[in-house]
Amino acid sequence: MTDGLLVFAPLRVEAAALPKRPGWTIVRSGMGPARARIAAARGLAVEARAVAVVGLCGGVSPELRAGDVVCASELRREGAAPIPVPGSALLAAALKRRGLRAHVGPILSVERIMGPAQRHALENEGVLAVDMESAWLADAADGRPLAVLRVVIDAADRNLFDPRTLVAGAHALRSLRRASGALAEWSEAIGPRQVLLASPRSFCAGVERAIEIVELALAQRGAPVYVRKQIVHNEHVVADLERRGAVFVEELDEVPEEATVVFSAHGVSPAVRSAAQERRLDVIDATCPLVSKVHAEARHFADDGDTIFLVGHVGHEEVEGTHGEAPDAIRIVQDVHEAELVDIPNPERVSFLTQTTLAVDETNEVVDVLRGRFPLLRGPKTDDICYATTNRQQSVRAVAEQADVVLVVGSQTSSNSLRLVEVARREGARAYLVDDEADVDVAWLRNASAVGLTAGASAPDELVHRLVAALGALGAVEVEERTTTTESVQFRLPREVRQ
Ligand code: SF4
Repeated sequence: MTDGLLVFAPLRVEAAALPKRPGWTIVRSGMGPARARIAAARGLAVEARAVAVVGLCGGVSPELRAGDVVCASELRREGAAPIPVPGSALLAAALKRRGLRAHVGPILSVERIMGPAQRHALENEGVLAVDMESAWLADAADGRPLAVLRVVIDAADRNLFDPRTLVAGAHALRSLRRASGALAEWSEAIGPRQVLLASPRSFCAGVERAIEIVELALAQRGAPVYVRKQIVHNEHVVADLERRGAVFVEELDEVPEEATVVFSAHGVSPAVRSAAQERRLDVIDATCPLVSKVHAEARHFADDGDTIFLVGHVGHEEVEGTHGEAPDAIRIVQDVHEAELVDIPNPERVSFLTQTTLAVDETNEVVDVLRGRFPLLRGPKTDDICYATTNRQQSVRAVAEQADVVLVVGSQTSSNSLRLVEVARREGARAYLVDDEADVDVAWLRNASAVGLTAGASAPDELVHRLVAALGALGAVEVEERTTTTESVQFRLPREVRQ
């Protein structure tokens, strides 16, 4: 396979809108299916490592405006099976970063121009836009990575021959020109690569249990089931449970009296438990047992009269919950600097606890400073940083050593996912946190022949597999799983949902 991109642009104006770029072979294929078939047959012989179809299209979805870009996720034509175009989310993300309105969805290629009424009839079939060439031109890809990028010239309610289309056309061609920059970024990321999957990754036992608790509460009690705070720190998990009837609230005063409320995996302070009792709420506690262990330690040290250093991040829900167990005794210490400065009344009665999702190495540095200043410092019997956090940091380190880029699936709110990014960076890899494939900047993948993938303890593994598929749309991928340990931890469900 050689370098370069074969670009089909059906009309002269469409081809002219594309700036000349090194390595691009732009072929004006002509309008309509018959010419597209001929151009595709010729395209098979053009040496290029990827194929793109660019041009204008007619909008079907009422959301589309003139100048919007549609990246085909699938090409349809009458009498033939749909042609999937995987990885279009990466191209759409590159377009959005350039300020363009980009959409991903099916494009239907038709034999003749369609008016608004005909296009309206297609809306229920999930079609985003129509054109007259893409599904036939796609045959030229023949296994090579394919991108289909069409810019809306006539919105769903407009006829192509409407006089206002002239203005819309000029706007659409400007969009097409701008969109070509994103296409260039996409084509520079094309190439075979190795994908190193860190294992363990993704859901831990505490997250699985918390999600199952909400699912069981919905099944047993019916919707709505209220959940205080995000059940786990992941946008996809929260959105999925919301669709099924969970209602996420920030505080208990948003929950109707006597309704069912689930406490999140991060735990709550005793004050929140009392407030729930006062409101006669039906409480189901999804606090991870390993967080409950830290709460118990806080109570134990506080009962002994200790000042407790809680190593963790101010404002994180878990830290707020633990702090609430003994607010007068606990001092939050966020880093080495704070450990060097913190002052306490009695250095002889002093202990420490930590948030469960911290970076192991950094936390050890903070504890070392505290121990140096307070030699009688007591700690928990077993590490507070949980097994899942430790294991995921070990496994990401193993892939980061050999990867050019590491992608960590997780949400910005997820502490353990953010720590995975930091750990990978400390190993010298470029590392990024992404909620899903739509967050990936294709520019990160340029010259990246080995990509490490992992997911935080709150991120579904399905998202990792979607990322692998998106990378596979940029060229052949060889997937290798790097397992540093195996996990078998399981937690018992709370009595309230046990059947
Ligand atoms: Fe529990 Fe650790 Fe998972 Fe947090 S990351 S829910 S502490 S197992």
